[in-house]
Amino acid sequence: MSLKNILNLTLPELETEIISLGEPKYRAKQIFTSLHKNNINIIEDLQGIPKSLKEKLSEKFFIAELRLLEESSSVSFNTKKFLFQTERTDKEYIFESVLISEKERNTICISTQIGCNVGCEFCATAKMGFIKNLEPAEIILQVYEIIRITGIMPTNLVFMGMGEPFLNYGNLMKSLKILTDKGGLGISSKKITVSTVGFTEKIKIFADDITSEENLNLRKIKLALSLHSTDNGFRESIIPTSSKNRLSDIYEELVYFYRKTGSKITYEYIYFNGLNDSENDIKRLVKLTRMVPSTINIIPFHPIDFKLNSPLDIFNKDKDLNNLLSNKNLFQFIEKLKLSKVTVNLRSSSGVDINAACGQLAVIKSQVNN
Ligand code: SF4
Repeated sequence: MSLKNILNLTLPELETEIISLGEPKYRAKQIFTSLHKNNINIIEDLQGIPKSLKEKLSEKFFIAELRLLEESSSVSFNTKKFLFQTERTDKEYIFESVLISEKERNTICISTQIGCNVGCEFCATAKMGFIKNLEPAEIILQVYEIIRITGIMPTNLVFMGMGEPFLNYGNLMKSLKILTDKGGLGISSKKITVSTVGFTEKIKIFADDITSEENLNLRKIKLALSLHSTDNGFRESIIPTSSKNRLSDIYEELVYFYRKTGSKITYEYIYFNGLNDSENDIKRLVKLTRMVPSTINIIPFHPIDFKLNSPLDIFNKDKDLNNLLSNKNLFQFIEKLKLSKVTVNLRSSSGVDINAACGQLAVIKSQVNN
């Protein structure tokens, strides 16, 4: 019988397993706390557990680990990027996570997939294609490992790393349940943001799930929509899946999400000089922010390189890279939004020098075991 990864189990699932081993239910909580709060990674080291139960556990389970392959630190920003390899799973895979420290905030940017098949034109991860969905253990271990390596407790978790969280929905939900469980790290749901490019029905399902009776710990999780354009045509050219997931349908789901959760929506908006900053773009953005309470995060476009194709060709053959990167109009764009009473933040380019900024995460093909 192949061993199961015990870190993939939520507390109720672990309780079911422990009961099936003929042991009292309370043992599950002890084991869960050892694994998820005290970061124990060897079954024999589990705290307060009798030897006989450890033996039973060893016959059925193993504890997965992540191996740190590389850690890079930005010279200009307080940002670190971590290259992890999965270990003690059926196959080994490589992926990235980021820690961004700004003022009082320490934010871990978590990956949910290795590669991604959404195919956003501005995103390095897209250029890898889809490799695999990360398991719940592989998602939560990014947090545990970064805490262990840096000694820093995160103040915020953002599911904005490699991959589209809603295309790995089951594992995303399990990882959220484990991370917020008070028997483990007990991270407040107010400190967690899940980002999506938007899929019809998924936002509604997410709103229902995080507000259900059984998921009280998840109630205040925030949602970010990778918007980047309010024009269906242009959005389709940069986010291919948006042809099947029209903005009008997504907006309807955002209203539903707000009504269900009471949480503000965040719109992520990469600024492409001359492509998504017209007066009409501004008008539509203003209208959108009146729909439900929301914030717009403007993100400077971050170039992607290392042997990947340029993402710029599709936009306009006449526009050169310098023009697209130019921020001479960026501040005017922001000012115009502010004048219309829109809450708008300019996201910093933390980690751009180590390819750790928004849209830059990727593992080049030679590093990936296919
Ligand atoms: S931006 Fe997100 S959804 Fe789009 S390709 Fe990159 S990882 Fe996938």
